[in-house]
Amino acid sequence: MVQQTAMDETSRPQSIVAVEGVMKRFGRFTALNDINLSVRAGEKIVLCGPSGSGKSTLIRCINHIEKHDAGRIVVDGVELTDRMGDINNVRREVGMVFQSFNLFPHLSIVENCMLAPMKVRGLSRAEAHERALGFLRKVRIHDQANKYPGQLSGGQQQRVAIARALCMQPKIMLFDEPTSALDPEMVKEVLDIMVELARDGMTMVCVTHEMGFAREVADRVVFMDRGAIVEEADPETFFRAPSTERARDFLGQII
Ligand code: ADP
Ligand code: MG
Repeated sequence: MVQQTAMDETSRPQSIVAVEGVMKRFGRFTALNDINLSVRAGEKIVLCGPSGSGKSTLIRCINHIEKHDAGRIVVDGVELTDRMGDINNVRREVGMVFQSFNLFPHLSIVENCMLAPMKVRGLSRAEAHERALGFLRKVRIHDQANKYPGQLSGGQQQRVAIARALCMQPKIMLFDEPTSALDPEMVKEVLDIMVELARDGMTMVCVTHEMGFAREVADRVVFMDRGAIVEEADPETFFRAPSTERARDFLGQII
């Protein structure tokens, strides 16, 4: 059984993710140092910072792909611990989109989207198929449903990856540099979908250096450096007047 925590401050329902005092080490290297972050329902957070600052590690801890060493992570009211019976109960509420699209190459586009809803949510083939086509339509790729990932462009594959995650009807979507591996002309088609998703009210944590996207949709920009959250602000404040030198240096490099 999944452990249900008491309805204390960190696990109250409007907080989809609560990260409290989280530490993560790889051997003697501290990748995350006392991370505190709460994501409310419907909130959009852009996570940025230099390469190696711990952004992916944090995202991966929230999805329990990595296990944190200390502190607490509560996702949708359930604390992630080693004692958890079935991490899939939590993970299926969390959609994840990676830099590399990670589609199953031997499955068609629509089958990629049907697999988890059938296996994990128990949908019938027909139900999964209908849902898959609905979300493929949403990312404007339904006309490619019977092709295989290798036949699609990078931008198209990433849109499929988003549709595939949405087919699980997650409570939150985590994006880890979803446009970094794309040719420049394909970045916009993926960002456009992410903007629409944000408008639909999805709760999102996006690691991205697309500052136009951050300005447009982020409620909060969280800036990390060397395993710590150094600065948090609304995008307007963050871009206009970052309060730390490290954030100023970072912005100077990417803008
Ligand atoms: P970012 O996504 O911000 O570029 P990462 O979270 O990927 O940074 O990595 C943060 C730090 O942790 C880096 O120094 C990286 O080398 C280290 N790291 C990440 N994953 C591992 C791992 N599995 N083993 C050892 N070190 C790792
Ligand atoms: Mg990363």
